Amino acid sequence: MQIEVMQESRSLYVKTFGCQMNEYDSLRVQRILHSQGYALSSDMTTADVIFLNTCSVREKAEQKVHSFLGRLRHMKVERPGLKIIVGGCVAQQLGKQLLQRFEHLDLVLGTRGLSAIAEILETIQETQERLAYLPEEEASRHPCEPQALSVPGADSLVAPVTIMQGCDNYCTYCIVPYVRGRERSRPAEDILREIQALSASGVLEILLLGQNVNSYGRGLNDQTGFVDLLHRIQGQTDIARLRFTTSHPKDLTPELIRCFADLPRLCKHLHLPVQAGSDSILSRMNRGYTAAEYLEKVAVLRQTCPDIAVSADVMVGFPGETEDDFHQTLQLLQAVEFDNLFSFRYSDRSYVKSSEFPDKVDSQTKARRLSALQRLQAGITLRKNRLEIGSIREILVEGPSRAANGQLTGRTTQNRTVNFDGSKRLIGQTIYVKIISAFSHSLRGEPCHQQGSP
Ligand code: SF4
Repeated sequence: MQIEVMQESRSLYVKTFGCQMNEYDSLRVQRILHSQGYALSSDMTTADVIFLNTCSVREKAEQKVHSFLGRLRHMKVERPGLKIIVGGCVAQQLGKQLLQRFEHLDLVLGTRGLSAIAEILETIQETQERLAYLPEEEASRHPCEPQALSVPGADSLVAPVTIMQGCDNYCTYCIVPYVRGRERSRPAEDILREIQALSASGVLEILLLGQNVNSYGRGLNDQTGFVDLLHRIQGQTDIARLRFTTSHPKDLTPELIRCFADLPRLCKHLHLPVQAGSDSILSRMNRGYTAAEYLEKVAVLRQTCPDIAVSADVMVGFPGETEDDFHQTLQLLQAVEFDNLFSFRYSDRSYVKSSEFPDKVDSQTKARRLSALQRLQAGITLRKNRLEIGSIREILVEGPSRAANGQLTGRTTQNRTVNFDGSKRLIGQTIYVKIISAFSHSLRGEPCHQQGSP
């Protein structure tokens, strides 16, 4: 990401833990502070402000934040003018406890307080106070106001756009409703304006973000639902490619499924977290669907859009999960044959209902199940990747490959990564490639001159 460096600017170091929503929020913070004269720095040892954007959805992410914060103590001793800020879910959840535990921490900013970061930072710089700012409502200044769009992040080819925050589903294992609050959708006009501005600045692909994008629009005055929003983005903006995440299976409607066939700019990939294949576990998770209903939706999806790729999240070791429950999850994986899968071990989180459930699964069993599940999925993913060999795919060339030395990388509409030898002039273009080999996490291709002719 290229950042315009302002004269006599102060520097900001940002570290993001966890999910894509947090990546987006970090970008918001960069945009807001850039307008106050802060240039993004990759060197935290000289930064004037260090902002840690935290996630508490997974236990590991929270532990990483604590250990990272501990490592910053000596910097504050050496440079007392340095301001250290913690934002995001851990900040929302722990609030003042974080200030008590880490004496070198200056500001704890809740998930709905990010928009006010500039004002609060200025205040603590003047007063030298240490503060926890955890508002119930989003600060009135909207993070995506037009002037915020002409700054960092707007020069990349792919950009996230948050369309909603919070969640009303209360899955029994999930902390999101407690730390992100109730579901709130952004007005469609704001979203369209932001996408159009990003498109005008060179962004080619948009990723619409929300905890449950399928329920977008509930509570909005203009009655725009998620399907309407997708149609409006297709019809009223110039963006070349559109993706979204995350979708809740219970809210995946036939109308939304149709969008994959009807909207040419909507990429043919759906991430549809399933979590488990056992109905009794799904019910205790409060997911609101059965395994059979999930399978039916995937079948309709593939009927409607035969070349769609489907990925999911799965959790093993939920309290009370028996060997039989786990086998039902393996059976579901075999039945669906996901193109990609993100798998996790269950862990207790504070606040959430499942932490009080009996019959916890021991860690050894969780590890064994996770590794069996990952082995199964690795075989499926590799086999599906190999089926791509010989096909011609359209990719958006995003830049140099991080994994393959000297090669460029791009993604197919199905979200598969393709590395290939080619000129840097191709970056930012949509080209055709012939797939020549397949690996566990990527494909290798060679550019074709036109569709169908290598
Ligand atoms: S749908 Fe469930 S898992 Fe997803 S954010 Fe909402 S409560 Fe959490």
